[in-house]
Amino acid sequence: MNAKIVDGKALAAKLKSSYSAQIEDLKARGVEPKLAVLMVGDDPASEVYAGQKKKNCEKLGIAFEMDRLSASSTEEQVLAALQTLNDDPTVTAIMVEMPLPKGLDNNKVQAAICPEKDIDGANPVNLGLLASGLPCMRACTPSAAIALAEEAGVDFKGKKVVVLGRSVTVGKPAALIALEKHATVTVCHSRTVDLAGETRQADVLIAAIGKPKFVTADMVKPGAVVIDVGINSTPDGLVGDCDTEALMSVASAITPVPGGVGPVTNAKLIGNIVEAASRRG
Ligand code: NAP
Repeated sequence: MNAKIVDGKALAAKLKSSYSAQIEDLKARGVEPKLAVLMVGDDPASEVYAGQKKKNCEKLGIAFEMDRLSASSTEEQVLAALQTLNDDPTVTAIMVEMPLPKGLDNNKVQAAICPEKDIDGANPVNLGLLASGLPCMRACTPSAAIALAEEAGVDFKGKKVVVLGRSVTVGKPAALIALEKHATVTVCHSRTVDLAGETRQADVLIAAIGKPKFVTADMVKPGAVVIDVGINSTPDGLVGDCDTEALMSVASAITPVPGGVGPVTNAKLIGNIVEAASRRG
């Protein structure tokens, strides 16, 4: 078997072009989408990510605002800045760049973004709504992972999905979305006994653990679709959580790193900005 490489850049381009039409529609109705990114401190990776968001927004005609606070800001100052953005009627979408400087509580900060503007689905209210099967802002990376599996031809109904990783930002929401699509879902983590025994049962394996090339050929069922969420910086460059080369002869489809989940996550962020603005409109 020679696995099909699922092209994230192509899917991202397709999604962005449909969002572009929706943005035109919104503007025609007098609704102006606007993203505000709050950056606390000057983490270099966050600078790059925020810059990418600015570029993506500008390309699609979405207004962009960057608000900066120093790394020594207190929790009260960060929460006050978010309250100002929550109250600003011209801001339709808010995102806080992570990681926050030491001493600030991620959960408290993310919970302070009003759920309707929370385009990263990071507020616990949005995760709760997702778990309840209600409309909400969904985290972009898990949505991207699911969309890529569907792009590879997966119909989740009745499929056995194994999610490797149980983080609030990726693993848990990915499991909930697959469950909503009628898959039978197993979530594995660092305390899972016989991890390979679990992953070998997966029709769809979603790997999100942050360990370079962790998933090897013997952990994958022949013909499985593998979605590699991991982004790991190594001396050989960026690699995923899967040993892509080894999996090529076992899986039926696999997402590359880079060029898989990453670009679709960026596109889904635009999708959430459009959704937040249309709900307000
Ligand atoms: P995280 O918060 O560190 O969570 C990692 C999860 O993996 C945890 O649930 C952990 O289990 C589990 N885990 C770690 N080592 C394990 C092991 N040896 N065996 C089994 N489970 C193990 O990471 P995350 O934020 O979910 O991110 C995961 C990966 O996705 C990272 O590489 C990250 O860079 C990447 N990512 C990519 C994108 C994108 O746009 N492509 C976006 C976000 C994240 P415990 O809970 O038991 O500790």
